[in-house]
Amino acid sequence: MHHPATIEAVITQVDAAADEAVAFAADLIRIPTVNPPGDAYDECAHAVGDRLLRCGFEVAYHTATQRAEHTTTHPRVNVVGVRPGRHPRPCLHLNGHIDVVPPGDGWTRDPFGGVILDGRLYGRGAADMKTGLVAAIYATEAVRRAGIMLDGTVEISGTVDEESGGEAGVAWLAEQRVINAARTDYVIIPEPFGIDRICVGHRGVYWAEIVTTGRVAHGSMPFLGVSAVEPMAAIVERFRTELRPSLAAHVTVMPVVPSGARHATLNVNTIEGGQSGQAGQTPCVPDRCRLVVDRRFLIEESLDDVRQELRDVLDTTLSLFPGVEYTLEDRLVVEPVQTADEAPVVEAVRSAVSSVVGRDAELVASPGTYDHKHVTRIAGITQCVAYGPGRLELAHQPDEWCDIEDFVSAMKVLALATLRLVGAPADRRE
Ligand SMILES: [Zn+2]
Repeated sequence: MHHPATIEAVITQVDAAADEAVAFAADLIRIPTVNPPGDAYDECAHAVGDRLLRCGFEVAYHTATQRAEHTTTHPRVNVVGVRPGRHPRPCLHLNGHIDVVPPGDGWTRDPFGGVILDGRLYGRGAADMKTGLVAAIYATEAVRRAGIMLDGTVEISGTVDEESGGEAGVAWLAEQRVINAARTDYVIIPEPFGIDRICVGHRGVYWAEIVTTGRVAHGSMPFLGVSAVEPMAAIVERFRTELRPSLAAHVTVMPVVPSGARHATLNVNTIEGGQSGQAGQTPCVPDRCRLVVDRRFLIEESLDDVRQELRDVLDTTLSLFPGVEYTLEDRLVVEPVQTADEAPVVEAVRSAVSSVVGRDAELVASPGTYDHKHVTRIAGITQCVAYGPGRLELAHQPDEWCDIEDFVSAMKVLALATLRLVGAPADRRE
């Protein structure tokens, strides 16, 4: 265990820095890093970088110049701060995305005002996740202000495009080997899972595009053609009556929240056929229909099985529709990821939650995905969790806010977890 005086000193420094941290989080909310299209990334990355410099980090900017989404008007600028300790390893990397989703309607306050009212900080990104990024910065700063020289290295990155897949953000840093198993031991992503929940991973995503083709004919003589729409309707019906009930029986051991997402799910995302989207109508038998499905799969399922299951439905259904052909193509694949419950990074955050919050942390998994996928799949790092202030239910909502007390608690948790993971050897678990 840590020396109680060390813990005490760090907690004191977090409390002392709280106002400064809240003010900085409000400053970041005032920079409207809306994605899409990816506004003001450069300004926000530099605001983070300047603060990291003041907190003793060496700072570098990694712009994803090779990505199609990187343009001169919307540059994809990531910032990485490195604060060396006595040794390069162990190395803890704290990552937060700087992009936010568009504000949308229904706000009663300025989404980019960074307003503080009744113990809450309001604005787009107040939960997801500018407060989380700032909590990480000030957690490590409190350790420094407590006069503690860490044994290992601390890194903090502010990255772009998480809301649109993170290809130019964490995936880019992982490909550039800035985040990599060869140099990075632990990653904590302060996404808003709340102060007593640790997210250990997420389900997989499979988006498939199915196209049926028939034969065009004059709409007054449909018997001369082959409709591509009617068989698609039959496919959708079979998804509803057969596939979905069978998916409900595929249950994961992962602690996905909400529990309704603890089994495999399927959403029909798009259906489009005939002359939809075209000006005017002509009397034709529709000879092409396109369907997009969003299938979320479990760590217990293989992508091949998931794909085959779809093919089985298509083959059986279309055997009843002579003359109809189909294609099935992958549109997006994200493999599920899971960090082991007993991994030191989980243990470190867990023990910090119980000392700061006074409750046992609940281990959860996400129904959707976030940057964990790139950390594991590209960077090869098996020890990654998400832990941060703010409530998940408020993310992407109007009047998004973060409770300031929770924000300070999360900072304390992150500070203690940092001590435990990269502090003095006696404080670390082997
Ligand atoms: Zn987020």
